[in-house]
Amino acid sequence: MRYISTRGGIEPLRFQDAVMMGLARDGGLLLPQTLPTVNDQVVQRWEQLSYQALAREVLSLFIDDIPETDLEDLIDRAYATFTHPQVTPVTRRGDLYILELFHGPTLAFKDVALQLLGNLFEYVLTRRGGFMNILGATSGDTGSAAIAGVRGKGNINIFILHPHGRTSPVQALQMTTILDPNVFNIAVRGTFDDAQSIVKAIFNDLDFRDQYQLGAVNSINWARVLAQVVYYVFAYCKLSRSGIKSVDFSVPTGNFGDIFAGYVARRLLPPGCIHTLILATNANDILTRFVTRGDYSCSEVQATYSPSMDIQVASNFERYLYYFFNEDGAVVRRAMETFAASGRLDLSANIRQIARDFSSRSVSEEETIATIRDFYRDHQYLLDPHTAIGVKAGLELRHPDRPVVCLATAHPAKFGEAVTLAIGREPALPPALADLQKRESRCVILDADQDVIKQYVAANALC
Ligand SMILES: *Cc1c(COP(=O)(O)O)cnc(C)c1O
Repeated sequence: MRYISTRGGIEPLRFQDAVMMGLARDGGLLLPQTLPTVNDQVVQRWEQLSYQALAREVLSLFIDDIPETDLEDLIDRAYATFTHPQVTPVTRRGDLYILELFHGPTLAFKDVALQLLGNLFEYVLTRRGGFMNILGATSGDTGSAAIAGVRGKGNINIFILHPHGRTSPVQALQMTTILDPNVFNIAVRGTFDDAQSIVKAIFNDLDFRDQYQLGAVNSINWARVLAQVVYYVFAYCKLSRSGIKSVDFSVPTGNFGDIFAGYVARRLLPPGCIHTLILATNANDILTRFVTRGDYSCSEVQATYSPSMDIQVASNFERYLYYFFNEDGAVVRRAMETFAASGRLDLSANIRQIARDFSSRSVSEEETIATIRDFYRDHQYLLDPHTAIGVKAGLELRHPDRPVVCLATAHPAKFGEAVTLAIGREPALPPALADLQKRESRCVILDADQDVIKQYVAANALC
C-alpha cells in the first residue's frame, strides 16, 4: 500500500514515511492510494476476534512495511494500557448502543490512536536513527492523550502548551502529573488561541523546525485515522455476530477525524453494513450546514460545554473532499484555495451525494445538558457532554429499522462541570485516576511570547 496526497502533488509514499510526514509537502493530507475492501466471509471470521487481533487484520490491509510480528507487538503494547479487557466495549442502553472509547489512560477516545502513534514514532525512529521533538498546543484532550502516548519513549521529547488556568482542573492534572523526563508541560499566560498561534509561528520558522526535528501529533496524521477505523469495525462485528447486519453510527465531531475513520470503515466493509454516519455537532455547526445544505463556510468559534468540538475549520474534511471530488487532486486543490481565499465552499449542487454518506444535526447547550439528565434518569448511565451530543443526534435521526451505535468519546468525569449542571453532582473519577489531585505535578508557567517559548524548547529539546 502506498500513500498519496489529497492534492495530488507528491510521489507515493510507504506507510512509515506517511506516519513521519504528517502533512503532505504539497499542503494536502495523506491517504491510501486505494481503499481496501473485505467480503462477508472475512467479516464472519472477524466476528470471532479480540480487539487486538482485529486491529492486526485491519491495519495489515493498510501497512506493508512493518513485519507482522512487529506490528503485533506495537498493537499489543498500545492497548495493554486500556483498563477494559475488550478495549472498546459496546453496551446497550434503551434503543441505543454505546461504543465506549474512554477506557484508555486519559479517559478520551484520542487514546485509541495516540497510544499506537507513540509506539509507531518510537519504532520508526529507533530503526532509522534520529529523534523528534513534538510540539503542540491543547485546550485539554489532545495534549494529555499525546503525552500519555509518548511518555518514557526513546528519541522523543514532547512539549505541550496549555492556557494557564483555563483547562479543566482534571485535564491540567492529567498532563502535569506525568513526570517522565521526556515530557515538558508549559502553561502559557494567555488563551488557547495564543498558545495555538505561538505553536504555528514556531512551525513556520523552518530553520528551527528542521534543527529540532519538530513533530506534530494533531489529527491530520494518517495513523490516527487508521487506528480509529478499527473500533468501527469491532463494534459492527459485535452486532453482526448477534444477527444485526446493518447499523448507523452517531459521531460527535469537531475536526472530522473520527467520523472520517467511520467513512473509511464504511468503505472497507461490504455495502450496507454501515448504512449512515450521523454527524453530530455542537453550536459550532459548519459541518451540519455542509451536510444539510452543502454550505461549508466558517464563522466565529463559540465556547460550549463540549470544548473538544469547538472548532470551525475541520482539518480532516479535505480527506472526505478527495472522495467527494472523485479522487481528483487538482479539483481538491482548487476547492481548498477557494476556501482559503473566501472562507466558503458552495457544494449545494451535490447535496444528494452527501446525503448518501451522512445525516447531521447540531445540538444546543440546553439539549446537551437535558440529554445527560434524561439519559441518566432513564438508563442510570452517565454521558459526558460530547457523547451526549452524539446520543441526542442519534435519537433524533435514527431510522426505525436500524440500530444506532453512539460513540462515547470521553468519560463523564473529565467534564464534571456540565455533568454537575445536569444531575446535581460531580461524577467520580475511575479508580485509576482517583488520586489525581494528590499526585506530584510539574509544569513551567511562561509568557505567551514566541521567543520565550522557543528559548525554553531549545534549552530542553533533543538535538
Ligand atoms: C477530540 C474530541 C472529539 C472530536 O473528535 P474529532 O476527531 O475532532 O471529530 C469529540 N469528543 C471528545 C471527547 C474529543 O476529545
